[in-house]
Amino acid sequence: MNTHNHNFSEFMSDLPREVDHEVAGDIEKESVFVSPFIERIHVSEDGKSARVVVRPGADLEETQEKAKRFLAVMVRQVTGFEIKVFVDTKRKDQGPYYVGVNDELVKRGWMHDYGKGQVAYSGPVLKLAKLINDKAGELYQAAFNAKDAHFPAMIDADTLHKCGYFDSHPNAVTFVGNVIEDFDAIEEFRRANSCSEGALMPHQDHIHIDGMCLNPAACFPCYPTLSGQSFDEGRCYTWLGRVFRYESRNINGLDRLYEFNVRELVFVGDEDYVRSVRAKALPVVEQLASFMDIDCQVQTATDPFFATVSAAKKFWQASQEVKNEIKIPALGNDGSVKQLACGSINLHGNFFGKRFGFTCKNGEPAQTGCVGLGIERWVLAAFTQHGFDEARWPDAVRNVIFG
Ligand SMILES: [Zn+2]
Repeated sequence: MNTHNHNFSEFMSDLPREVDHEVAGDIEKESVFVSPFIERIHVSEDGKSARVVVRPGADLEETQEKAKRFLAVMVRQVTGFEIKVFVDTKRKDQGPYYVGVNDELVKRGWMHDYGKGQVAYSGPVLKLAKLINDKAGELYQAAFNAKDAHFPAMIDADTLHKCGYFDSHPNAVTFVGNVIEDFDAIEEFRRANSCSEGALMPHQDHIHIDGMCLNPAACFPCYPTLSGQSFDEGRCYTWLGRVFRYESRNINGLDRLYEFNVRELVFVGDEDYVRSVRAKALPVVEQLASFMDIDCQVQTATDPFFATVSAAKKFWQASQEVKNEIKIPALGNDGSVKQLACGSINLHGNFFGKRFGFTCKNGEPAQTGCVGLGIERWVLAAFTQHGFDEARWPDAVRNVIFG
């Protein structure tokens, strides 16, 4: 009997446990990584069941089984940790939030969306992105005497492995592939493309992936450069990093890009030092939000880990309170307010100090922490909160971006 389906279809699956909105959101977002045949999994309003949307050609039995295993691990997530709010700025602009910022930016010619999670921008969008980056850099310089740095956009798989990334976010990795160094294979690839309509990829066997990846977290490339150093006094580094996270079908305008820019701050030293920098980073974020005149909160949070390790790692993060997230309200495509994660403030303990061999006082592995600001999301949030009427923007920002 043929169990393959030739059209989009759906089936319902009872959840092993009732889930809240937070877990429901995680299930929907991570569902794009369950099976090539699962379009999306939606959790019902009551949090008791899931609607699985299946693509044509699926083996239904196998797809159902996979969805079940995914849901079984996702519902184990523990939620309900008290959310602590450390920063809460309120904007002075009284105007409404603007619905449809992405479309309007494209319409005005200030942004080009390539449709695969990458954007090009110019004019006021570029000026605003630069301003946010520069302002954050200035604030970090003033508050922490941060040293400027620069790092490559590609990263070695061994470094990523050391950073624990494959263990936490294996679905988000992008490997760089090359055509094998073979005269015939290269010629075959050349010939195939010399008169084809669209690009033809090399034969699978003719691609080698020898361990270069696109960097998925701004701070990672910094750690190998610290190896062997001792930090008797704490130190801060800051730079603009290019970051890549494979988001599959979750990409969406400036809300969720595959390739984006992060203003990063990394601090290295003993425990007192990294904790003091984290504490001082809060008013710095507050200053940046006030400068932009936007509603903004910094609160305790957890990362979206891959399904199989999500429950355990989220629990650890939440219970240790090692992650704070910068949440800036923006509007979803349907006009509802959503909290856009525009950056995070993280403590890593001595994880990187141990793995990459750098120390603080007494030769102990040094502790580290980082602050990352997602530039494009700050841009989206600012346009959402001030719209396109220049008069609504704070003077200092308006003069730069519309001047
Ligand atoms: Zn980081």
